[in-house]
Amino acid sequence: MALIECPECGKQISDASSKCPSCGYKIPHPERVEVIKKCVIFVFAAIVIVVILVNMFMPKTRSPFEKFSPQMTKEDVHKKFGKSNLNDIECRFDTYNVSFVGLTGKLTVWYNDEEKIDGIWWQYTLEYYEDISDYSKQVDEIKEFFTKEYGEPSESYGKTIWEDSVGQEYIYELEPALDIFGPSITIKYRP
Ligand SMILES: [Zn+2]
Repeated sequence: MALIECPECGKQISDASSKCPSCGYKIPHPERVEVIKKCVIFVFAAIVIVVILVNMFMPKTRSPFEKFSPQMTKEDVHKKFGKSNLNDIECRFDTYNVSFVGLTGKLTVWYNDEEKIDGIWWQYTLEYYEDISDYSKQVDEIKEFFTKEYGEPSESYGKTIWEDSVGQEYIYELEPALDIFGPSITIKYRP
């Protein structure tokens, strides 16, 4: 710590003080401003790095069918996801709410006579008050998702079909009818 002369009143004051004790003159400290600037830059860079890392390790969009395998029985499904409300001894299906590309759809798991998975449908219906432009965007997102996973699809009677390498079929079906129920998206999985 050294003594300097106050530029206002001329008294000897410490160079560490932020203002003169006699006249109240604010002593400029350009080196402190530099330190603050460096801190701000450092904090900003740290935030950017954290955001990048979080994005890298965040779980990516998953298929609504991902947690199911063709070998699963009704019992396996119940163990993993619980029984759906609609299920009873006679029921051939279970329903669950499953989110996909930001839409919460109804996932229906159908069983055959041997109580094995017969097919799974994920269905989303646009409510009449929802924005149609968001809907189209999400349709494109779904197409992009399945194309990335299973390659270029084929089109047939308004359905887009992806087939994976072991011959299982993903059928993506879009019903753009603008009726009271709104347009819907159905993705069917057949093991
Ligand atoms: Zn002074």
